[in-house]
Amino acid sequence: AINERKCHKIAAIGADGIGPEVISAGIAVLRALSEALGSFDLDFTEYDWSSDTYKKTGNYIPDGGLDELRKHDAIFFGAVGAPDVPDHISLWGLRLAICQTFQQYANVRPTRILLGTQSPLRNCGPRDLDWIIVRENSEGEYAGQGGRSHRGQPWETATEVAIFTRHGIERLMRFGFEIARQRPRKLLTVVTKSNAQRNGLVLWDEVAAEVAKDFPDVKVDKMLVDAMTARMVLAPKSLDTIVATNLHADILSDLAAALAGSIGIAPTSNLDPTRQNPSMFEPIHGSAFDITGKGVANPVATFWTAAEMLAWLGEETAAAELMICVESVCEAGIVTADLGGTSTTVQVTEAVISEIKKRH
Ligand code: ATP
Ligand code: MG
Repeated sequence: AINERKCHKIAAIGADGIGPEVISAGIAVLRALSEALGSFDLDFTEYDWSSDTYKKTGNYIPDGGLDELRKHDAIFFGAVGAPDVPDHISLWGLRLAICQTFQQYANVRPTRILLGTQSPLRNCGPRDLDWIIVRENSEGEYAGQGGRSHRGQPWETATEVAIFTRHGIERLMRFGFEIARQRPRKLLTVVTKSNAQRNGLVLWDEVAAEVAKDFPDVKVDKMLVDAMTARMVLAPKSLDTIVATNLHADILSDLAAALAGSIGIAPTSNLDPTRQNPSMFEPIHGSAFDITGKGVANPVATFWTAAEMLAWLGEETAAAELMICVESVCEAGIVTADLGGTSTTVQVTEAVISEIKKRH
């Protein structure tokens, strides 16, 4: 019989700063993995959309660009942001345009302490911290609703309105419960601030309680976001899957990335759980212009991102293999400066590729 290999079509967008450096490292590693395993193919299309495109044309995404992306199974994204473009323009111009168009309403951020890396927490070694933060990615505090009046007057007023819909909360909550159910501990911590935010987040609590009835096997735990920050630091082992609003999860996931050792490690996935549209996978870090072009960007966040993308595409075995190779390179001390090493982006990438070849 003919060995039918699945071919996944990936749109790659390096964008700004260290984005193109880490994305090309990621593509090289993914190609080596698909070649070594021989169980699937990858077809990359690279798009050079960036803040330079915006400065030249007034747009990040050219006409028809989103329809181009739609033809792919996944989007592999670097980082967007440039020193001479306001952050809200670059963010909405590229990243959020993609998230919104493709209904990527769940942002998923796994956090673990990889073998060979160090948490700033005392007595917290690899595997003592193993979380998945599920962030609402389409509404809430970042809905962009509100406005300003009486500009420049002492009585100037600004409103920033958070939008919470039953539909938005319920679909996110169901996805959070599904993830919790698939993990050994089956524990979901629902984060709010419903003592102070008494409309939207009370609705959040109510919907969580309703959805919980459909997941009797998942243990639910409620936390207020302020107490949650303390618990993450003081009792990291007591947490597993965490679901929170757009703003709260944004803050908690930066804390999580720091507790895991470096922002240069952490991945994130912007998912359309209905799978009607392509999902987008990116490292948590930004464009980091301070180290751009120096060849020292840590590519591990992008490798982990690549593993998350493979798992979403159904290549769980390949994803797990990739993480084994990445962790063994970290354990061997072949790491960039942010992890206390002296290796370059290229050296770490080559070490991971030779580990892949060695194992297969
Ligand atoms: P942006 O505006 O796009 O968010 P930024 O420069 O404000 O970018 P980050 O890129 O998130 O913020 O990073 C903050 C700092 O962390 C950077 O200045 C850089 O020194 C460091 N850093 C970020 N990513 C990496 C990485 N992959 N490897 C090494 N250091 C990194
Ligand atoms: Mg930044």
